[in-house]
Amino acid sequence: MNPTDQSKFPTVVIIGGGFGGLQVAKQLADKPVEVILIDKHNYHTFQPLLYQVATGSLEAEAIAFSLRKNFDGQKNLRFRNTEVTRIDTEKNTVVTTIGEIVYDYLVIATGSTTNFFGNKEIEHYAMPMKSIPEALNLRYLVLQNLEEAILKPSKEDRAPYLSFVLVGAGPTGVELAGALAELRNHVLNKDYPELVKDEMKVYLVDFLPKVLGPFSDEGSKAAQDFLHSMGVEVLLNVKVESYDGHEIKFEGGKSIFTKNVIWSAGVMGVVPDGISKDSIERGNRIKVDTICRMVGRPNIFAIGDVAAMITDETPKGHPGVAQVAIQMGETTGKNIYRLIKGEQTVPFKYNDKGSLATIGRNKAIADLGKLKFQGFFAWLIWMFVHLISLMGGRNRVIVFINWVASYITYNGGSRLIIRNFEREELIKKDEQVSKPD
Ligand SMILES: Cc1cc2nc3c(=O)[nH]c(=O)nc-3n(C[C@H](O)[C@H](O)[C@H](O)COP(=O)(O)OP(=O)(O)OC[C@H]3O[C@@H](n4cnc5c(N)ncnc54)[C@H](O)[C@@H]3O)c2cc1C
Repeated sequence: MNPTDQSKFPTVVIIGGGFGGLQVAKQLADKPVEVILIDKHNYHTFQPLLYQVATGSLEAEAIAFSLRKNFDGQKNLRFRNTEVTRIDTEKNTVVTTIGEIVYDYLVIATGSTTNFFGNKEIEHYAMPMKSIPEALNLRYLVLQNLEEAILKPSKEDRAPYLSFVLVGAGPTGVELAGALAELRNHVLNKDYPELVKDEMKVYLVDFLPKVLGPFSDEGSKAAQDFLHSMGVEVLLNVKVESYDGHEIKFEGGKSIFTKNVIWSAGVMGVVPDGISKDSIERGNRIKVDTICRMVGRPNIFAIGDVAAMITDETPKGHPGVAQVAIQMGETTGKNIYRLIKGEQTVPFKYNDKGSLATIGRNKAIADLGKLKFQGFFAWLIWMFVHLISLMGGRNRVIVFINWVASYITYNGGSRLIIRNFEREELIKKDEQVSKPD
């Protein structure tokens, strides 16, 4: 099943064309190795801008980039658009929906997924936002519920459709809360003149005492002030108890009637079957040594969100951010080639370039080591960094034009409902797909 079965070069199989997997492939370009990159999607997703797809200010294609196109000049790489269902670490094969692929070296770069911490009811009814299909589901749900609200005769009947509860006040929750608040403040009256702006509520909930937990205290405080000024109700030290699709209940007895709960309160690694339970750390991540290699498996590496490198310096592993995945990918690509040549490997060292989050127009937080900015300048930095990090010149131009248009008109994006989001239908389909014959 390998593309060149008689190849004399070692085969490096990479599972995942995200931030980490792409870097490994790039490091191995022009080297005497066969690279097979596998991804269940045929595109790379720029996750930091998913929230703009969810709120309809960017089209999905603007934050996705074809993996085939990205590697069209790399002669030693073959791309396979398929899902890995299992890894056989004894036979050195990965099992996919199109057959088995043999590897000499394997890199697991499968990223992470939403963690509902085992609460099946919340998983059933709340919306995650980790992929483009999920961001589009969320967009349709938001727009459909605004349409639905128009048809309701009373304020009480409209309230659940116009209440948006975001659980998890990390960067994703904060950015989405800001974007929904801007939708209410600048767009609602234009698109839906029958609705009353003040009836739309945006709540941001976290059980921690501050928003943007990993940021500096001043950054976190500024973000909370920005959210407040935009009309977001921030509920801190509040733990979610349950959500049944109608009412979200919090510990202590409070509750909100809502049809819109968005869950960004945690992530967990996506580990394919076949990896021994002993190798799994907290957060469902694969335990790796200082060169991102699985303990006891000299030819298997794990990088990015799915990897846990536990050392004295990083007792909880590294943060789940793009820079960690990119840098681990770079080191791993180079180390695999060093191993092939019989050379000494170099341990991974994370270079933390800082953290950025935006809350809305002219409002962002930039914690760049000792340099800390809040407000307009931080917002310019946020825009610049995100534009240059996007893959593909065309995507950068499209996003830039969209941002300029939104800035000038206060009304960017087209907010189309291309297909209906039917939660029950989707769940039924998922169940049918996952049911064994
Ligand atoms: C909404 C959101 C906002 C974010 N904002 C930021 C930000 O502002 N800054 C920042 O630094 N980080 C941000 N992050 C985190 C960042 O995106 C991740 O840390 C990063 O994507 C991890 O890279 P990765 O290579 O480990 O995995 P990913 O980029 O997630 O890539 C994993 C790839 O593996 C593929 N895959 C998974 N399982 C299989 C399988 N079984 N078979 C085949 N293919 C498979 C997936 O399709 C995917 O393409 C954000 C994340 C989200 C969800």
